[in-house]
Amino acid sequence: MERERDVIVVGAGPAGATTATILTQQGYDVLLLDRKAFPRDKTCGDAVPAGAIGILYRLGLQEKVETAVSRGELYPLTGMRLVSPSGHTMQAEFHKGESGTDSYVAPRLYFDALIQQHAVESGAEFQQAQVTGPVVEDGRVIGVRAKANGNSKTWQAKVVVGADGVTSSITRALRPKTAQHIDKHRAVALRAYIDDIEIYPGEVEFYLYNEILPGYAWVFPTGEHSANIGLGMRLDHFRGRKQSLEEMLRQFLAMPVIKKRLKEGGKLRNMATWQLNFGSQKQLQHVYEGAILVGDAAGFINPLTGGGIHNSLVSAQLAAKTIHNALAQRDTSRKSMLGYEQECHDALWDNMKRSFNIQRTLLRFPSLVDWLVKWSGENSSLAKTFLTKL
Ligand SMILES: Cc1cc2nc3c(=O)[nH]c(=O)nc-3n(C[C@H](O)[C@H](O)[C@H](O)COP(=O)(O)OP(=O)(O)OC[C@H]3O[C@@H](n4cnc5c(N)ncnc54)[C@H](O)[C@@H]3O)c2cc1C
Repeated sequence: MERERDVIVVGAGPAGATTATILTQQGYDVLLLDRKAFPRDKTCGDAVPAGAIGILYRLGLQEKVETAVSRGELYPLTGMRLVSPSGHTMQAEFHKGESGTDSYVAPRLYFDALIQQHAVESGAEFQQAQVTGPVVEDGRVIGVRAKANGNSKTWQAKVVVGADGVTSSITRALRPKTAQHIDKHRAVALRAYIDDIEIYPGEVEFYLYNEILPGYAWVFPTGEHSANIGLGMRLDHFRGRKQSLEEMLRQFLAMPVIKKRLKEGGKLRNMATWQLNFGSQKQLQHVYEGAILVGDAAGFINPLTGGGIHNSLVSAQLAAKTIHNALAQRDTSRKSMLGYEQECHDALWDNMKRSFNIQRTLLRFPSLVDWLVKWSGENSSLAKTFLTKL
């Protein structure tokens, strides 16, 4: 039997690696588990807003981020374009974050490895292991069960953090089936990389058009002629479609506004599909006896933009603070850690609600999208949401 850890973090994506970094920096004994070795890809649009970069700077990642930018791994952004069905375009500029940070298109292969490596350098112990679920004794989580190197393993901890993303083994085991995400608060999305496209330098592009509402297609530049390209749709509407996401992406590439910019017909690579759980669903439980959920495992993705990295980091900070207080009081019960649910609500809910309402309006009144894009300015809540919650 291994020693009991203070904290086990399941999943070393942005939410898990950030939680592990903060707690390790505070002197706790943290075991960070992920089914994959790093660097690893994660299906994503890769757009990271300045606010998220600011959080990472405060954890000591400034030098790593700057080095990755100088190597061309992270692509700095200056603005965005939102394009309506009739081709109206709203342009807006990104503002620097509080600590002068920029927004980036940061392929997750590089971006996630920076944070995971920082957690390890801060002192967290990393092991590659596929967690199959929490170990529950007398109604409280006391550890996790996993497969590592072909062997079954059990690790124990005072607190388990579920940071294993949208298909979280911890969430599935702890959240009652009747209280999980429903289809109208979920989405599916397809992402690919393209190396022969004329980009708008420094600008991310969002395309809202009738066939894809409530959802959008995107072109997020990663280099001079390369981009992350994809599209996403609300799950309840996608289920009624006869088309696959790949067919829809091919149609997007065939639209004149994109087709004319493809140098060799649009060669796609690394195409992959993944799910998104929105933070717009009310009353989901994130705290359990001895366990807490962060990032996509809790379901904190913005329902309008599909952006979840910033919210993952926000929830990681709040979870780390809660766990620190709980460990100090030697009480990791749900009651002791419940404040986390309220703090997440306070930090994220207004934006989630506003974004869901905009998304619903676009769906109900598609003809309004042209009007909205044409007349909304840089300071509108539409522009602000896309700029800050990419
Ligand atoms: C197609 C698509 C496009 C998106 N575009 C954007 C965007 O442009 N900007 C943005 O901000 N957000 C975007 N998002 C959302 C964003 O990807 C997520 O919100 C973000 O990755 C959440 O981080 P996380 O750390 O919570 O989870 P993840 O990044 O999913 O990390 C979870 C980690 O847990 C590990 N894991 C999973 N299961 C287990 C297990 N059983 N045992 C051990 N380890 C496990 C995984 O390997 C992974 O490393 C997009 C999502 C999709 C699907």
